[in-house]
Amino acid sequence: MNKTPEHPSKRIIVTGAASGIGRAIAHSLARQGHAVVAADLKAPDATVKEITQAGGQAIAIAADVSNALQVKEMVRACIETLGGLEGLVNNAGVFSSIVPRPFEQISIDEWRSLYEVNVFGLVNCCQAVVPHMRSAGGGRIVNIISGTPFKGVPFMLHYVSSKGAVLGITRSLARELGSANILVNGVAPGFTLSEGVMDNPIQLEKLREISKNTRSLARDQVPQDVVGAVDFFMSEGSSFITGQTLVVDGGSHFN
Ligand code: NAD
Repeated sequence: MNKTPEHPSKRIIVTGAASGIGRAIAHSLARQGHAVVAADLKAPDATVKEITQAGGQAIAIAADVSNALQVKEMVRACIETLGGLEGLVNNAGVFSSIVPRPFEQISIDEWRSLYEVNVFGLVNCCQAVVPHMRSAGGGRIVNIISGTPFKGVPFMLHYVSSKGAVLGITRSLARELGSANILVNGVAPGFTLSEGVMDNPIQLEKLREISKNTRSLARDQVPQDVVGAVDFFMSEGSSFITGQTLVVDGGSHFN
């Protein structure tokens, strides 16, 4: 099979693929015919088993995105096992464990540890894949952002600002990598009932109803709602789109 960047079938790393939005993205990309590298803190064997049982192609890799060495090893293993790499979905993030509270109560240490994953982890992954994409003639990077920096959501400022940073990275990296034919786009979900969120009763209490009520499509958002936008940014139909962020939130914020 021809695996040039122009070929519809890509080899794609999805970080944070053990659960929630990342798992749904991994499934959907595999259904589109892509070979998926499902990465997470612990190797997401269950995700990979589900994908392969459904006839898709996937491998599981354990990697903490905040650890640059582990990320390099993840990319090396992907290239060694699958023979190349055309796509990266930066989905791993700290969100569902957050307890909303006033910004004076969020310590700088907590900001730092969240930034280690949501910002520096994403940068680690981009820095590890870009040299391979450059030498292969191109690639696709999709960053999972959030609707929160567009709206200015209170009581989780460390999180909102980390996603604001990712929005800026998405736009600037798109400019920096355009000449290498590497397309960088973002997908910004609204409040989504991932497994992690369902395990956080305070988030559910504070964010579920208010999120639903601000939507044009006034229902709960689920991980499956997010996958089509990622599929699109990995498809040939988006080959002249870069630096953009698609807000997927049932028509709450109009970008
Ligand atoms: P989740 O908490 O359910 O899952 C996140 C996954 O990332 C988990 O499998 C976790 O193990 C993994 N992960 C965490 N830290 C990691 C690290 N250092 N290295 C590798 N993997 C790591 O989250 P979710 O709700 O599915 O959210 C996924 C992404 O979508 C996050 O980036 C989040 O910020 C973003 N997002 C979520 C929502 C929402 O409401 N759920 C809304 C907008 C954006």
